[in-house]
Amino acid sequence: MTPRFKRIILKLSGEALAGKAGFGIDPDVLVCIAQQVKELKKENIQTAIVVGGGNIWRGAEANARGMDRATADHMGMLATVINGLALQDALEQNHVDTRVQSAVDMRQMAEPYIRRRAIRHLEKGRVVIFAAGTGNPYFSTDTAAALRAAEIEAEAILLAKGKVDAVYDDDPNTNPSAKKFAELTYLEVLNLGLGVMDSTAASLCMDNNIPLIVFQLKSGNILKAVMGEKIGTFIS
Ligand code: UDP
Repeated sequence: MTPRFKRIILKLSGEALAGKAGFGIDPDVLVCIAQQVKELKKENIQTAIVVGGGNIWRGAEANARGMDRATADHMGMLATVINGLALQDALEQNHVDTRVQSAVDMRQMAEPYIRRRAIRHLEKGRVVIFAAGTGNPYFSTDTAAALRAAEIEAEAILLAKGKVDAVYDDDPNTNPSAKKFAELTYLEVLNLGLGVMDSTAASLCMDNNIPLIVFQLKSGNILKAVMGEKIGTFIS
């Protein structure tokens, strides 16, 4: 089998990193991710990761409780850097060369985001972790994934979820009769308000023709998605 995609963005939400605890970073999940990314490397898939921060901090939630939005979002972006460094450590322990690039300057800990340098790392077989989202408040790491995918010309975004295995019309964890979608268009996602990703991210993907595969983060699934096996929901 030949891989369906040669260069991808893997979007890992903070929630996926939290594992069963629902918060913080689960070391077992890190190991699971590192092993799966190593499988991608063996297939010569150029892999960039955009990491979320919701397992530590969500700006909008803090804002709803009265905190200044920009400050709350800055804290959220810092949370993504914590996750990015944890992922880098897990990958390097699995002998996968990794660079963290941050959208907010913090040179002692991560490279600054430089598009051409990121592409060069990928061409050399290194995994690049994009941290600090877009670097701007009022955005999400889903939007960062769409933006970086367009910038580095990734062929697809793989959206690995913690609790669900696909897109449903309702929460399958609370509604057993929720309908599962195998395929969707971005217009349907937007019109039906499906909440797969925020509308800014969905519009950016739609405008730039970047397909998205939504699936559950469990052993073997990332490679299956890259090889074109039918898992989760395919959005284009
Ligand atoms: N964030 C931001 N700008 C960005 C990306 C993220 O301000 O470009 C902040 C925002 O506060 C958000 C938090 O970082 O709540 C964590 O990101 P996100 O909610 O996207 O993480 P995920 O839901 O994927 O875990």
